[in-house]
Amino acid sequence: MHYEAQVVSVSDYYPFGMRIKEREWKDSSFGYRYGFNGMEKDDEVSGEGNSLDFGARIYDSRLGRWMSLDPHMKEYPDLSPYNFVANNPIIFIDPDGKDIIIHYKDKNGNDASYEYGSKQSVPDNEFVHQTVNALNHIKTAGSGKLPEKAVDKITTSTIKTLNITKSSEGAFKTLFTPVQKDKMGNVLKPGSSVTSYHDIKINSGSINFDPTSALEDPNGGGSISPATALAHEIGHAYGAFFNTPVFLWRIDQKDPKYGDMEEDFATTQFEHPVAEYQGEWKRSDHSTGEEIRTSSSTSNAPLLSNADQLEEGEEIQPNISN
Ligand SMILES: [Zn+2]
Repeated sequence: MHYEAQVVSVSDYYPFGMRIKEREWKDSSFGYRYGFNGMEKDDEVSGEGNSLDFGARIYDSRLGRWMSLDPHMKEYPDLSPYNFVANNPIIFIDPDGKDIIIHYKDKNGNDASYEYGSKQSVPDNEFVHQTVNALNHIKTAGSGKLPEKAVDKITTSTIKTLNITKSSEGAFKTLFTPVQKDKMGNVLKPGSSVTSYHDIKINSGSINFDPTSALEDPNGGGSISPATALAHEIGHAYGAFFNTPVFLWRIDQKDPKYGDMEEDFATTQFEHPVAEYQGEWKRSDHSTGEEIRTSSSTSNAPLLSNADQLEEGEEIQPNISN
């Protein structure tokens, strides 16, 4: 298949998205309605391109402010509840205020992404489907508890971005990008040293996730599904994003059972409630267990290939009822 792109609109913007009038062009035979950050322009009220509909809220690109309060304003006491991307439009974007991004390769092998919980339809991609199912499962299994709260809070945060990428090694790990600030709250260059946990903010992180990898207790205590392991990693992200100084402090505190207090937090507050829901293994220490393959992200039942069954020498029983 071959497509030729047709340019219907060109615009330059000031940093907060106000149009630079001398530097735009459009083909008026097309009613192209989208502008800054790819959002739909709401031209009737404030004039062309001055009001943008981000789905959750309306944004005024001349003021660089939202027209309504941030529903999560309590988490950001140092910012105006009307602020746009923490007043840092060069570093951050706000795709639609929903911020768990699942990364995948499309049919042509190109990098693509899907925002969990957004208005976009879920793409026809196995990794995305399994990850969406796992996140939905975490919300159901951890309903009324921290796992559900964490998924909802990260999903609706306008500043925090959690990326989920496919892992083929069966590893689950979370990596964070700390932003260091000086006493005045100015962002410092990476590698700068700070003296207090309070001078560090974490706005983005990524989880490597394998939706077919479950973990089995080598001592026969059972196993946990990929979704349960993902809940554990979401627990780390929740702490890192919304309570950064305490997250950093917990990492430094030794814990007799789980290694450090952050591992205790992610395991007992996130992994255990989700594990309990399906009667899965509740880890009592931070041993990772043996990796087993499952058919889906929300199951801990091992996937046995025909070859495995033959190797194990299982007899095939005729199905006779007595
Ligand atoms: Zn952990």
